[in-house]
Amino acid sequence: MAHIVTAPCISRRHADCVEVCPVDCFHLSESRDMLLIDPLECIDCGVCVAACPENGIFMEEEVPEQWQEYIAINASEAASLPVVTTREAGRRVEGS
Ligand code: SF4
Repeated sequence: MAHIVTAPCISRRHADCVEVCPVDCFHLSESRDMLLIDPLECIDCGVCVAACPENGIFMEEEVPEQWQEYIAINASEAASLPVVTTREAGRRVEGS
């Protein structure tokens, strides 16, 4: 069980979530232009859910049907990507 970052993060990346996570389990995917959570590090505290202005983070069992693929994406890709612990490092600079 873990929390999952889904499609609303793509190309937005406000990255408020990374500053509230107590175990630093957010990673940056430049190729997907989104943040991902390493499910092996996530302790399911849930504080990142409210921090996301795009409502893009869900408990694994509550991920909407159309974004189910992100469960596997977070699990298979996050751990190999750079850890992000500050908004400056994680947020999208241009746009939004
Ligand atoms: Fe981090 Fe808690 Fe969100 Fe998991 S649920 S990613 S531990 S803030």
